[in-house]
Amino acid sequence: MATIGRRTFLKLLAAGAAATVWQGNPAVPAIAAPAPYRLKDTKVSPSVCIFCGVGCGLLVYARDGKVVNVEGDPDNPNNEGGLCAKGASAYEVYISPRRLKKVLYRAPGSDKWEEKEWSWAIPEIARRIKKTRDESFKTREGSVTVNRAEALGQLGGASHDTDECYLLSKFARALGIVSLEHQARI
Ligand code: SF4
Repeated sequence: MATIGRRTFLKLLAAGAAATVWQGNPAVPAIAAPAPYRLKDTKVSPSVCIFCGVGCGLLVYARDGKVVNVEGDPDNPNNEGGLCAKGASAYEVYISPRRLKKVLYRAPGSDKWEEKEWSWAIPEIARRIKKTRDESFKTREGSVTVNRAEALGQLGGASHDTDECYLLSKFARALGIVSLEHQARI
């Protein structure tokens, strides 16, 4: 009777085990089944990160009217698909239960925030801008005409695009505002 060495025995054992797996032994779980594609049936829209003036491009995926994923836009020349930690958290901001969705107002001297409607907030802001400007507008400094609203300031936001920034700065200059700044610079 022929004898087999230890090395040959191990080779035959391994070949037998492989053959058993290959034949679909139900006791062996499948380990390479593909996960379902998570962006299936979504509609994608290009957008811009709201957090800073770099203006990185985003791709926003929505299914049934709800955002399900946000990621960097590889076709945007600003970021070529990459996002910093803030931009990468854009989807979490969208789903966060702490996200503000209403106007919050804290009256002078108060320590409490009140929820307000936009229909209250916008005319109130306009009234206060006019009042402050009327009370503080400076027409001259010494012998020089200045026409400045020194008690007002304007702060731009990174989600404004170029045209909006142009219009907002025009609006501020028309009021006489000289303290103009942008959120991305501070
Ligand atoms: S916060 Fe980050 S991702 Fe967003 S625009 Fe700025 S650099 Fe880009």
